[in-house]
Amino acid sequence: MDNQKIVDFDSLGRNVGRFNIKGKKFLIPQMNKIGGRLLAGTFRGFGIQAILMDTYKGMDLGKQYTSGKECYPCQVTMGDVLYFLKKEKERLGDSFDPEDYVYFMPESDGPCRFGVYNKYQRIVLDSFPEFRRVKIGALTTKDGYSLEGIIDEERVGDLRKASYLSVVVADILDRVLWRVRPYEREEGMADEFIENATKQMEEAFERYGASLEFDKILDQLDEIVAQAREIIDPSIPPKPLIGIVGEIYLRTHVQSNQDLIRVLERHGAEVVNASIAEWVNYTTYDRLREAKINFRLHLKQARFKEIRDDIKRMLSYGVDLVYQQSKQKKVYERIGKFLNIPEDHKVAHLEKTLKKEDLFTFDVGTEACLSIAGILEYASHGFNGVVNVYPFTCMPSTATAAIVKPLMDRLGIPYLDTPYDDSSQPGREAAIRTFMYQAYQHFKRHGRGLHSKNRGLPHANRVSVNKGAQ
Ligand code: SF4
Repeated sequence: MDNQKIVDFDSLGRNVGRFNIKGKKFLIPQMNKIGGRLLAGTFRGFGIQAILMDTYKGMDLGKQYTSGKECYPCQVTMGDVLYFLKKEKERLGDSFDPEDYVYFMPESDGPCRFGVYNKYQRIVLDSFPEFRRVKIGALTTKDGYSLEGIIDEERVGDLRKASYLSVVVADILDRVLWRVRPYEREEGMADEFIENATKQMEEAFERYGASLEFDKILDQLDEIVAQAREIIDPSIPPKPLIGIVGEIYLRTHVQSNQDLIRVLERHGAEVVNASIAEWVNYTTYDRLREAKINFRLHLKQARFKEIRDDIKRMLSYGVDLVYQQSKQKKVYERIGKFLNIPEDHKVAHLEKTLKKEDLFTFDVGTEACLSIAGILEYASHGFNGVVNVYPFTCMPSTATAAIVKPLMDRLGIPYLDTPYDDSSQPGREAAIRTFMYQAYQHFKRHGRGLHSKNRGLPHANRVSVNKGAQ
């Protein structure tokens, strides 16, 4: 390593931020495979050379260039980008030009460590002379992942709409997989079907996303979901329903969570994982909430310039949120005609739930807001067990565990914490088996879709998942 350059902190300002990606290779880390592919397809439709990087092949590099104290997703993504760039350098030799690449690593404004992944990764990339000029493109939750500045201004709104739809459709493909796989007629059918469906949707987003011909994409999605129903063997009885919450990367990156959903299914579960769109909606909601708080404050102080800016922000985030949530709802309603899969709740409803139970507050922020409220929702919808998935030492998820564990005990709903790093914990399989035994007992006593009227939990529309395999 060139130690001198490790301390080039100016590089954090110069080479991490919002860059125009026109003509560049835009490197997307693979968190959720389906989501990553649809997003890459969407970007390609806008003329951006988007590449979804392979994942987990560079884990040795990830470990070599971290101390072990970083969050696990930081290690994994560190390894992914180093592995990709090294392979690219090998492949292209002298024609490798670091200026051709923008590596996409978003950030949040805290209070946890996600705000510094890209700074840390910048320092590591700067330690390789050949990668110093690879830029890191950072979208941030500070402005609700605004895409301004990364492509021509007049296309920003369209890219945002198409990207958001790709996130919703990817969530649906995942939910279809988890809905049908536990009941498939032949082993492997569901995985193969979803692999083909992902390819079809990736091509559809590439072809129709940029022209906003969303109906052409959604017509194909309708057909896919209708066909998926045929995979279900109706003679297989319903199984205990398990809800997953937790840190977004870990719960969606199957290599990091050691394919937890499949392991739960092997032990007799049907699983629903929290969605990615929920997080996107949350970041927009949180910015709107912040703008409203500032507006009230500035009104009291009679600071008129600030009031004008707050109103602008409230309008902008308000419009985005209404668009996102209504789009998401419409798509779920469409495909709900073909297959019964659970929808997301509005973020405002989740905040109301937390307030009502007085367990946590959106003022603290982080995914704990969604995880704690999500667990309450699962409980009120009669799920037979809940799993909290997170990187070892993750701050928001540890807070979630501390708050929720005693509550689940009181409600008699099986609950399991599953922290992960890259080691395999010898007791994990036994813990999952025990958890699933408890979930099965809960299922035998209460069935699924049990309403929580008498449990002191919030009422909500029941997810109608207790109608047999179909
Ligand atoms: S959410 Fe957890 S894993 Fe992610 S950055 Fe924060 S502390 Fe780390």
